[in-house]
Amino acid sequence: MSMATRESSPQQSAWEMALSQLDNVAQLLRLDPNLHEVLRHPKRELTVHFPVKMDDGSIRVFTGHRIQHNTSLGPTKGGIRYSLDVDLDEVRALAMWMTWKCAVVGLPYGGAKGGVQVDPHALSQHELEGLTRRFATEVSLLIGPEGDIPAPDMGTNQQVMAWIMDTYSMHRGYTVTGVVTGKPAAVGGTLGRIEATGRGVTMATALACLKQGRSLQGSTVAVQGFGNVGSVAARLLARAGARVVAVSDVTGGCYNPNGLDLDVLEGYKLDQRPLTESTLGETVTNQELLELPVDILVPAATDRQITAANADRIQAKMVVEGANGPTTPEADQILYEKGILVLPDVLANAGGVIVSYFEWVQDLQAFFWSEDEVNGRLEQIMGRAFQEVWDAAERYRTNLRMGAYAVGVSRVAEATRIRGIYP
Ligand code: NAD
Repeated sequence: MSMATRESSPQQSAWEMALSQLDNVAQLLRLDPNLHEVLRHPKRELTVHFPVKMDDGSIRVFTGHRIQHNTSLGPTKGGIRYSLDVDLDEVRALAMWMTWKCAVVGLPYGGAKGGVQVDPHALSQHELEGLTRRFATEVSLLIGPEGDIPAPDMGTNQQVMAWIMDTYSMHRGYTVTGVVTGKPAAVGGTLGRIEATGRGVTMATALACLKQGRSLQGSTVAVQGFGNVGSVAARLLARAGARVVAVSDVTGGCYNPNGLDLDVLEGYKLDQRPLTESTLGETVTNQELLELPVDILVPAATDRQITAANADRIQAKMVVEGANGPTTPEADQILYEKGILVLPDVLANAGGVIVSYFEWVQDLQAFFWSEDEVNGRLEQIMGRAFQEVWDAAERYRTNLRMGAYAVGVSRVAEATRIRGIYP
């Protein structure tokens, strides 16, 4: 496998991409132009620049954002991302996608997203805690169990959520577990949350295989991004009988057509060793991984990975979007014309926000469920949403993304119309 890297060349920002997807579905639905105009804008945007004391005694100023896109259906919900790529446009897009995702799966939430421009791996635990607590304080103007409930995303995890919950609670003077989801079970988290997104990805893949008369058993799978979403999806797809032949992290990945030992690769992840160091297969770049001859491709890293520049070289029969926004609208069209089924992010990775919703409900009621209850209810919601999206795509003779948007956008538009414009 050649080691030549070809950077993807995104022509649109994530926000332009999100807007063009909304504009396309507005046309499909013949959406009232007034409602369309409302939905094109995020409701609130907060940018904060905040100082953090570093271990060497110096002070660094970081920039972060929290954006709430829409509150028509309820409080807003969406992850917090720590990455050097975080910018206002990306957070805006991610907030809008959360609005549609919550509506597609029928949750009483609007969409939000947050992020800090930082490489979390370059900080000590102590610095990460300081940064998180200060960012939580800065955005506590917006977040809260009734208004806006963050969760983990790229570069953040259970521990980060626990620090946010603790910081918010310290300011209130009492414990407010419902302010974030994705917490450890010991402090009001739910069972099944860590696996929820990857589990939902696996459920959506299995349902799509069933619809297409394919067998998941024996199908080959490549997963881009071996983080929370990608590693769980890989493990559960393998458990369902698929053969995971390639996985990657930010450095690149490894490919073995006979299948990979995921336990060994999990060890690399735990030790924070690059997957490119593994000797389980050939080293591949992230771009090469996307173009491998597999049945199922799961982009589970970041946005704008499948673009007009590489879509015609995708060989998978099905693309299951574990990440948010991995496929650009031009690439979507190319994949559609090639007959490749794309399970869109707003459906495929909704397992995370569904189980986050369960966590919030449990926190508000202070009454906790068994893992079987969590997984059973997740399966019910994913099954229903999958069918609704599939039916909408057939009704409008379009792809599953537009089908999902048709379901989600019409629900939000309807709620906005019924509530009316204040005052
Ligand atoms: P994570 O930080 O746990 O893992 C991200 C993985 O992607 C890591 O292996 C990292 O090395 C790799 N990566 C990062 N940048 C990359 C790049 N430019 N190219 C290739 N690989 C890269 O993050 P996560 O929580 O697994 O989230 C991954 C994606 O899934 C994101 O798009 C996120 O928005 C989306 N998502 C996450 C959840 C969730 O519950 N965590 C829910 C829905 C959607």
